[in-house]
Amino acid sequence: MNPELLRRLPKMDLLLARPALAGSPLPYPLRRLAARQVLEGCRRDLLAGELEDLPALEALEEAVLRLAERLSRPALGRVVNATGVVLHTNLGRAPLSQRAAEAAAQAARGYSNLEYDLPNRRRGRRGAAAEALLRALTGAEGALAVNNNAAAVFLLLSALAAGRGVAVSRGELVEIGGGFRVPDILSRSGARLAEVGTTNRTRPADYAAALDAGDAQAILKVHPSNFRVVGFTQSASLPELGELARDRGVPLFCDLGSAAPGSPELREAVEWADVVCFSGDKLLGGPQAGILLGKGPLIDRLRADPLSRALRIDKLSLAALEGTLLDWRDGTAVPVAAMLAAPPAELRRRAEALAEALSPLCPCAVVETQGEVGGGALPGEALPAWAAALEPAEALDAWFRGWRTPILGRIHRGRLLLDVRTLLPGDEDEIAAALAAWREGAP
Ligand SMILES: *Cc1c(COP(=O)(O)O)cnc(C)c1O
Repeated sequence: MNPELLRRLPKMDLLLARPALAGSPLPYPLRRLAARQVLEGCRRDLLAGELEDLPALEALEEAVLRLAERLSRPALGRVVNATGVVLHTNLGRAPLSQRAAEAAAQAARGYSNLEYDLPNRRRGRRGAAAEALLRALTGAEGALAVNNNAAAVFLLLSALAAGRGVAVSRGELVEIGGGFRVPDILSRSGARLAEVGTTNRTRPADYAAALDAGDAQAILKVHPSNFRVVGFTQSASLPELGELARDRGVPLFCDLGSAAPGSPELREAVEWADVVCFSGDKLLGGPQAGILLGKGPLIDRLRADPLSRALRIDKLSLAALEGTLLDWRDGTAVPVAAMLAAPPAELRRRAEALAEALSPLCPCAVVETQGEVGGGALPGEALPAWAAALEPAEALDAWFRGWRTPILGRIHRGRLLLDVRTLLPGDEDEIAAALAAWREGAP
């Protein structure tokens, strides 16, 4: 490396005084940060011998401007979900309804009556309105919203089962993902795991034996969520476990994972379990939250537990949760529910329209494929789906990922599939814009 090159690197002030940078509306500290990073990158590359000569001043200026523009946008941002997986955990699970999103934005921008009882001029209870809606929608006696469902399970076990044996089927000792393992959370809560049955078959009599032997003083039923055991299988139903729990005078807890108001699964769980919990951002279609429903006195104990303060829901999520529940109350389909209910014929029409809009830009066909619910809901159940299939798959996929609003599809048999079920309003236009830019070879 020629040491002269290092000395000839432009000074930061000179670079910042270049017309495009001096005239840029971006804040000065941001331009300076970008200039420093670009110059440092150059110096590093020169020292490492990866750069033979100094870039032209215009090229440096351009690089600084591009970097400053990128740094001005948050790294966490919108993507287009064309994967067909409705509750995609890596993509933020449930998109909020208009009403829920607006409620969260309102709560974010100003003060709110979060914990204030307006008519009585005194401190109010956080979450009271959402909890009243939850009770009305599900018929549960008590309701409590916490930070997420993992927190709900932890609170439930800590407050109501610490020091006790909890009977769990060996077929339900699952890992949900993100390191959430039922046996681990159970032991952290201070409860003792009493495994019953076998991986593929557990009968009510297995639970009864654990209770009668004094190994367990509570029952936990866990929705196996993200996997399914097929073949020679058996599990105890909620009514069977409910009967057993009532007969032996022990509580029955149920981690449903995912639930929609009005569904037979939730109705059954609320009827038979003493406490049920599930996520706010799975089939409910709301923000990240953990919903606990159950017998009034038990929910009161959960609310009074010191842990519930540490696991409480934040005000933005709470506002979004109330908005989501108002949609359910009014019969307005939240986006997740609408996506899951979309008839195949309509999906096919949308895929055809997308393919028609894109086909002048690249080879494009309409294909029938399979999507999934995701989020650990209904494992193994494929959704009939329709997609636009584009070529060349690899190159387009890379281009789409780098697009201003990254577009995520799925590569299948050499084609990039864009599943229309999970597209939101405006996404088709964004895909067309990305593809037009690809055709022009422009960034
Ligand atoms: C998803 C899931 C959880 C975790 O819920 P989060 O809201 O993601 O914390 C726990 N249990 C079951 C059965 C689940 O499906």
